[in-house]
Amino acid sequence: MASHPLIVAPPASLRKPLRVPNKLLLGPGPANLSSRVILAGTHQVIGPLQDEMYKIMDDIKDGIRYAFQTQNTLTLALSGSGHTAMEVSVLNLVEPGESVLVGVNGIWGERIVDMAERIGAKVHQMVKVPGEYYTLQEVEKGLTQHKPVVFFLTHGESSTGILQPLDGYGDLCHRHDCLLVVDSVASLGGAPIYMDKQGIDVLYSGSQKVLNSPPGISLISFSEKARSKIFNRKTKPLSFVLDMKLLANYWGCDNNPRVYHHTIPIISLFALRESLALLADEGLEKSWKKHQEATEYLHRELQKLGLQLFVKEPKARLPTVTTVAVPQGYNWKNITTYLWKKHDIEIVGGLGPSAGLVLRIGLLGCNATKASVDRVILALKDALRHCPKSKL
Ligand code: PMP
Repeated sequence: MASHPLIVAPPASLRKPLRVPNKLLLGPGPANLSSRVILAGTHQVIGPLQDEMYKIMDDIKDGIRYAFQTQNTLTLALSGSGHTAMEVSVLNLVEPGESVLVGVNGIWGERIVDMAERIGAKVHQMVKVPGEYYTLQEVEKGLTQHKPVVFFLTHGESSTGILQPLDGYGDLCHRHDCLLVVDSVASLGGAPIYMDKQGIDVLYSGSQKVLNSPPGISLISFSEKARSKIFNRKTKPLSFVLDMKLLANYWGCDNNPRVYHHTIPIISLFALRESLALLADEGLEKSWKKHQEATEYLHRELQKLGLQLFVKEPKARLPTVTTVAVPQGYNWKNITTYLWKKHDIEIVGGLGPSAGLVLRIGLLGCNATKASVDRVILALKDALRHCPKSKL
């Protein structure tokens, strides 16, 4: 039967059992899975084109509409992490040569710029130092100057710890004939967001943060204005896999019979449905309050340790991911490694413009508790005693 000798032997490493350490994940995500979500992920697979799967997908769409506070019909989950949702927004909303404006106050804006440049858009950036947000006046100036078709803003800037206000930005964009796209990957479920009331045209989020689901899925919704721009494009989007028209059909968001597009990550969708059910059980308001209270408690305890919060204005601090200045004389990597190895806790360093400047601590979903805060504070106290400190 075999026509050639095998040149690669079965790897010895795979003969050993899978080992995964059990850690408390207090970075900016992924967060730990909640126990109901783990259980949901142990079901047998079913076919992606069966009615039972369509029903689960429809439940997920309802759950996303609740989490986003929207009635948009074009609402679905994407097979791919938050970056997929970012790329879907860029690829589908923007045609080559069109003007786009991006709020760049951290890494997420930087990445949108990169994605939009790749498709040949005219990209304009509103760059801010890490740790600041955009006022309505600043955005109005940018819209007047660049006349973009789309404006990108990040609600929860997880690389810098900033919470971007959202009231009034949608109306402002619409007065300038522009669509508002908002990234809520790090904030959904942890900070209030009202897609329809705030006039957001495209909102997306991820599965692995407050939702405590496995990474690898993103959630997205499009307003009627955004849908109309996509359905009236002059050119096809450059990607087949990420073509919203095709995805809209497969997810039952147009009025045509569903047609196979790609094989969706079925087990991860079971888990996501459970996460959304948990959020619906708890209620958005309760979830927002839980994150606010846990994070404020964390902030007080960090300050008691003599540490400095990176975001100065209290109301601009993200209630899910906290950035704290790397304590003077310490190397951030020694601290994160010490917590991982000695205390079984994950926290991480900065990213993009905040690299080397901060430590990032996330309290996401089931991890947003006083007990998590007490554990990480104890571990940090220990790290500050044991990690090397330069005398500078
Ligand atoms: N946007 C924000 C605000 C994020 O925090 C992240 C993930 N840290 C992303 C986008 C990208 O998501 P993913 O890593 O799931 O692709």
